[in-house]
Amino acid sequence: MLADIESGVELTRDLIGRDHLSQRVMTAMREVPREAFVPENMRHAAFRDGALPVGHGQTISQPYIVALMTDLLELGQDSSVLEIGTGTGYQAAILSRLARQVYSIERIPALAQAARQRLLEMGYDNVETRCGDGYQGWPEKAPFDGIIVTAAAPFIPPALLNQLKPGGRMVIPIGMPYSHQQLKLVTRDENGEIGTRSLIGVAFVPLVDAD
Ligand code: SAH
Repeated sequence: MLADIESGVELTRDLIGRDHLSQRVMTAMREVPREAFVPENMRHAAFRDGALPVGHGQTISQPYIVALMTDLLELGQDSSVLEIGTGTGYQAAILSRLARQVYSIERIPALAQAARQRLLEMGYDNVETRCGDGYQGWPEKAPFDGIIVTAAAPFIPPALLNQLKPGGRMVIPIGMPYSHQQLKLVTRDENGEIGTRSLIGVAFVPLVDAD
């Protein structure tokens, strides 16, 4: 899996603006057992560099994308990070190895519950999860050094932008469901100025609007 991540980075280096990912991120990718987060009948494929279905019409992302998005956040040991779209909890577990505190929001109660249980049992105790609407972020825990959205939104949710610290970084796929999405890196500089950069084409499940 690590070799696939490295070759993914090599193939996309001009687009993503880096030729390798940080050692810290690669170590987290090596140490968090992806097979423990995928359904039992998918375990044989857990280390392939592909997305996998995890029920409720949702998917766990391709390892290369998980690693790249994590790397783009440039988290430090003291960082507080918000994830939208807990899914299986795999991405949250990776983040927990790199940040001080992880907050993660999932809208489907069954997935939120299963992920919370799994993270607890596996001992990832600096992850707090809740079931709710990611478009609103988590104002009580804001501001965040990093925000990672693991579902595609038609636009950058304003509430999330407001919850990003000066000097903070957000990674978010923007575009229509399943196609023509661009992974964007959004930064807020120390003066509050927002910068946005498009990196690569991606295919995420949609960030669903609250009903
Ligand atoms: N990061 C996950 C995979 C995410 S799949 C992992 O590591 O396994 C995208 C997830 O986003 C799905 O579980 C979906 O239910 C959730 N989602 C979609 N719209 C959402 C919203 N508005 N708020 C919170 N979660 C949402």
